[in-house]
Amino acid sequence: MDPLFIIPALGDNFIYLYSFGQNSALVIDPSDSSLVLRIIEKHKLSLTMILITHHHWDHIAGAVELKRKTGCRIIGGDKQRISGIDDVVYDGQVVRADSIRIQVIATPGHTRTSVCYYMPPSNDNKNGIVWTGDTLFVGGCGRILECDAEVMWNSLNKLASLPEQTLVYCGHDYTVENYEFALTIEPNNEAVKQYLKRAKQAQKEGGPTVPSTIQQERLTNPFLRADAPEIEEALHMTNARPVEVFAELRRQKDVF
Ligand SMILES: [Zn+2]
Repeated sequence: MDPLFIIPALGDNFIYLYSFGQNSALVIDPSDSSLVLRIIEKHKLSLTMILITHHHWDHIAGAVELKRKTGCRIIGGDKQRISGIDDVVYDGQVVRADSIRIQVIATPGHTRTSVCYYMPPSNDNKNGIVWTGDTLFVGGCGRILECDAEVMWNSLNKLASLPEQTLVYCGHDYTVENYEFALTIEPNNEAVKQYLKRAKQAQKEGGPTVPSTIQQERLTNPFLRADAPEIEEALHMTNARPVEVFAELRRQKDVF
């Protein structure tokens, strides 16, 4: 059995459930408790923790109900704005359960207290996994709501420096729209064209457009490529700092 379940919810959100040990499971950003409970019951799993990437409603809506039904702990980066939180995590902290280790990466930008969760490679998970919430999407990034562009740029660069084979599981399926935007910036980027085609095919078949990899993001995601000469030229910003190019990309995407 693949330990990772991808659970589409609320139209374009992704909930992720990861099973480990004998019959334990953790869930990331459970926006809908009933979808999670159905899988837990079907596979006779015991939910031990909920990892929250940020406090927005469409990432936490099912958490309190799941905690009430299973007794699991709620873990996240925001003491005030995540209801029912048990453990407030900080950058670099390692969350442990049985044999698994999950590293917390603070990624402020979309919100002040956004975090991502990185699980290094292991027997069950050969590539390593990063759950990126609304910070990094396939081919895009989250809106900058509570910080400035520089903070978000630094957060994205932390993610970009993870091992390139790391699988990226993000909070929303915005892949097709993101790659369509990317092509307006880099119309000659063959990798973008290929991955756009692949994403459209996945969508047509009703499948998810995740995961991506860190390598794929470095090749195709304009927001991680704000320091690439092609992008600087496309925006007529060859003498600008990468963070200024990044901010301009984000401005353009906001009205795309
Ligand atoms: Zn959000």
